[in-house]
Amino acid sequence: MKTDVLIIGAGGAGLSAAIAAKEAGVDVLVLTKEYPTRSQTCMAQGGINAALGNVSEDSVEEHIQNTLKSAHGLANEEAVRYMCSEAPATIAWLDSIGVCFSRTTDAKIAQRRLGGASAPRACYAQDYTGLKILHTLYEEALKHDVEIKNEKVLLELLKDSNDVVCGALMLDIRSGQKESYFAKSVVLASGGYSRIYDKNSTNSVKSTGDGIAVAARAGAKLLDMEFVQFHPTGLKNSSILISESARGEGGYLLNSKGERFTNELAPRDEVSRAIDAAIKKGEDVFLDIRHLGEEFIDEGLPQERKLAKLYANVDPVYDLIPIKPVAHYTMGGIEMDNNSQSSLEGLYACGECSNHRVHGANRLGGNSLLEIVVFGREAGVNAAQRAQKMDAHASASSQDDFLAQEFTKELDFYALREELGNVLYEKVGIVRRESELEEALAFVKECQQNLPKMGAKDNALRYNTNLIEFLEFRNMLDVSEAVITGALKRKESVGAHFLAEE
Ligand SMILES: Cc1cc2nc3c(=O)[nH]c(=O)nc-3n(C[C@H](O)[C@H](O)[C@H](O)COP(=O)(O)OP(=O)(O)OC[C@H]3O[C@@H](n4cnc5c(N)ncnc54)[C@H](O)[C@@H]3O)c2cc1C
Repeated sequence: MKTDVLIIGAGGAGLSAAIAAKEAGVDVLVLTKEYPTRSQTCMAQGGINAALGNVSEDSVEEHIQNTLKSAHGLANEEAVRYMCSEAPATIAWLDSIGVCFSRTTDAKIAQRRLGGASAPRACYAQDYTGLKILHTLYEEALKHDVEIKNEKVLLELLKDSNDVVCGALMLDIRSGQKESYFAKSVVLASGGYSRIYDKNSTNSVKSTGDGIAVAARAGAKLLDMEFVQFHPTGLKNSSILISESARGEGGYLLNSKGERFTNELAPRDEVSRAIDAAIKKGEDVFLDIRHLGEEFIDEGLPQERKLAKLYANVDPVYDLIPIKPVAHYTMGGIEMDNNSQSSLEGLYACGECSNHRVHGANRLGGNSLLEIVVFGREAGVNAAQRAQKMDAHASASSQDDFLAQEFTKELDFYALREELGNVLYEKVGIVRRESELEEALAFVKECQQNLPKMGAKDNALRYNTNLIEFLEFRNMLDVSEAVITGALKRKESVGAHFLAEE
């Protein structure tokens, strides 16, 4: 099958890219392994940043400075300036297509303060911000007649004889057949990789870093993979996120003695380290929002109350919420140039799988939803412009076929996937030591060597989720290797990468 612009992934980034490419006048096809409205973007709660100054004074320059400070000097200032300057127009666009932002009493878009921000800057739709944005983008994509095919898993990229990306090899989940798609430009929008930490992550089970692993296997450069953000407030037993908006609205962090022990609104890396240190001293740590009152919680934080009741069996109106820091967001990704193109010609990327160097060593809450729309639209336009300049589709010169090899199935990859999550959480987590990084790398390499002893035990062609999960495990291993290798190379503590003495 042939199209002008092929987009892999239908989260906020992929749909933003699709709408922009379609508006630029080319044919667009979106392929995704899950249903678009279930993409992880729907889990985002707290808000999307833009210096609108609707509830107190704010400026684009303040937004830029807060972002650069949180990035610990590793962001590209030009990219940050672009993203923050585009933010007010981006919110106006989202508002115009129907995102139902919460409002102030004088009908302006309401804004709340998140960690590391000098002003209330996050625009929100109660605590369902990502869901409302994603579903509105999906409706908008349908209005634009964007073609979207679900249940297609990216296996590998296709390249022509000049090493230019010209399409993708996909697995159709419904039929079990492989399919080749040819395009003049390919955009990866396949999300982040926090799920390599398995149960120690707030992320969707589908955030397995597939696009990054596939791009790296095709030869694309990755950047800053070691920077994994740990969110301070995952529920202690399930890792389900309690949004930063709970602290933004005035929530406290308490130790076992009921004392506050850190600045709740410092950037996430600092707060997570403070909680981690308290836990390592034997403390239990709690989020306390009881003083905000039932009416306020039900109006501003309804999802947080629901999640705490469902997954921790506590009602935050009356009870403390037991929490721990868990893997939440991955700053690393496919290295981008100023046009959202990777080091491989013909391959663009946007969203959490890409690295536009706007988050550096630590992302500010509310900046990811902003990034996926701003750079999603930019990637869509640039991919469309490249496609418009090309006469014909290229054909693929060769393609890898990982699934063609023999798998003996003597090892259970599910057990190893769980072990991988625990090894990474303990040894490649909030505080890192070189010897532990080496141990984690040895574990990953052994798993990679043993892949032929694994494989899917289910031989069914149709809806073989066992096979999909095996393919995801392979990608998780490749991504884990890149994270640990990056961490070993970075010899100083910076942002989310914190090194301790041996
Ligand atoms: C619980 C939670 C709360 C958050 N809250 C906020 C917040 O308040 N503010 C903020 O700014 N950010 C927040 N974030 C971060 C933000 O939601 C994400 O960074 C962002 O939504 C990522 O969007 P994306 O489009 O890049 O990826 P996703 O939404 O993850 O979409 C990825 C898409 O790629 C597809 N895909 C993946 N692999 C393949 C494959 N192999 N083949 C085919 N398709 C594939 C998936 O099916 C999906 O459609 C939060 C994250 C979480 C987990």
